[in-house]
Amino acid sequence: MTPPPRKAEALMDAEVREKIHLEILKRTGAYHANDHILLPSGHHTSEYIEKTLVTTEASFTEGLGAVIAKHFAPWPIDIVLSTGPGALILSHCVARAHPSRPTLMYGTKGVSGGKRRVTLPVEFHRLIRQGSKVLVVEDLVSSGATVRLLTELVEGLGGQVIGIGALWRRTKKAEIDGKEIFSLVSRDFPTYPSESCPLCKKGVPLNQEFVKRREHRKPSSAQEQS
Ligand SMILES: [Zn+2]
Repeated sequence: MTPPPRKAEALMDAEVREKIHLEILKRTGAYHANDHILLPSGHHTSEYIEKTLVTTEASFTEGLGAVIAKHFAPWPIDIVLSTGPGALILSHCVARAHPSRPTLMYGTKGVSGGKRRVTLPVEFHRLIRQGSKVLVVEDLVSSGATVRLLTELVEGLGGQVIGIGALWRRTKKAEIDGKEIFSLVSRDFPTYPSESCPLCKKGVPLNQEFVKRREHRKPSSAQEQS
């Protein structure tokens, strides 16, 4: 392996890479910036990501998946586990590009009794063996709750989560319970209640497009962004 780059260089590289990734997400139409957006929660923000649009350009997704795979290439991986169907296209691209040729599987998300639930289809259970090395892939990591629940499931079956590959990390911490989150973009955008929104104060018109669009959808397919 080549020696690790010096810290300043590594930071600059990370910054440049992040800019490129943001530009790619802008091209897909998924990432909106410099706007004044109404969120489903009622809060306002200047940036927004429409998760559904992230993987609409197949060649871009392949490139982004390859970056995640390259990062985790030094580790042998048996399984790439998508947190849900939403992250499955990206997960496929990660699995395809990883030198270990890992198996690909996915969890399913849902809510029951007001609590967030994550399950792993029972057919996948027998593919996770004692000591199986698992790379979890998520599109957007916010609280990390889904990743935690999936990790518990994997560990319950005797597997071991090596790390988390993500498109976007909104949390400040680059790890979950000691497991590294490698994300293509690490960025949190502030959201404001309308009373204290600086964009409202400046008189910038409010874009309600995303909330309107969401009202046409079923609640279960709605994005979780606050
Ligand atoms: Zn506002």
